[in-house]
Amino acid sequence: MEIAVISGKGGTGKSSISAAFATLSEKVVLADCDVDAANLYILFNPTHEEEQVFVSGQKAVIDYNKCRNCGSCLDSCRFDAISLSDGEIVISEILCDGCKLCSRICPFDAIKMVNEDKSRMYAGTFRNGKMVYGRLSPGEENSGKLVNMVRDKAKTMAKEHQLETIIIDGPPGIGCSAISTITGVDHVVVVTEPTVSGLHDMKRALEVTTNFKLKTWVIVNKFDLNRDLTDRIENYCQQRGIAVIGKFPFDRLVVDAMVNCKSVMEWAPDSEMALLIKKAYNKIKML
Ligand code: SF4
Ligand code: SF4
Repeated sequence: MEIAVISGKGGTGKSSISAAFATLSEKVVLADCDVDAANLYILFNPTHEEEQVFVSGQKAVIDYNKCRNCGSCLDSCRFDAISLSDGEIVISEILCDGCKLCSRICPFDAIKMVNEDKSRMYAGTFRNGKMVYGRLSPGEENSGKLVNMVRDKAKTMAKEHQLETIIIDGPPGIGCSAISTITGVDHVVVVTEPTVSGLHDMKRALEVTTNFKLKTWVIVNKFDLNRDLTDRIENYCQQRGIAVIGKFPFDRLVVDAMVNCKSVMEWAPDSEMALLIKKAYNKIKML
């Protein structure tokens, strides 16, 4: 069973809840698909048994042995990646989109395209099972493909080690990597918070999961910070037949757990927060 935890926006506490779900069982694969900002490995410190290069695309690079500084390539880049620096043509690694135009324009064959290969997928063991995560290098693209790579690896590990549940920590937002995270999963949990942007972005996330016809549940985190907005979130979900399976209060314990590199289930297993999370998780497993 694959359970994806996503949020319309960042900062809702999605990763804390994913971490809590991942430590409710000894038989899980935890897949961190928030590839732009994967951080659950910091919390769980998994062993690194496997590392795979992810080629995210290509970048233009100048061969200065061939470049004659003719300037023909300067105005060709619509991403403003080519500029002059101290009289020398330079290409910005961050701005280059890999369209190859400049390499075709250069009359001296001085621009070559090279693979972007700094992104990685790592797989290993953590204290509650297996863990896999992707790290997209800054400025690299195709995050959705890296998410697919992480998910494929998670499924392989689940099969090999007879682990019944895959918990996926997804990225915030509804972009390419979020779509890749939820496609074909058994359950999607949308974590939101009672703020205007939390409500707004939850609606967008729910539109996506509804369009994909995915079993979707909502958790309102820190619900007690604004009870009016929590009511609005609940009403919205009720009108659309989406169950709110958990309302968690703001609890300093969650922060303390993170500071101590533990999930709240590990840090304070008998706390009210831990019991609420467990209840929500059991509801998902039963439905
Ligand atoms: S490959 Fe395309 S995006 Fe990159 S520098 Fe050349 S023209 Fe610009
Ligand atoms: S077109 Fe080629 S030779 Fe001319 S400045 Fe650009 S890289 Fe150098």
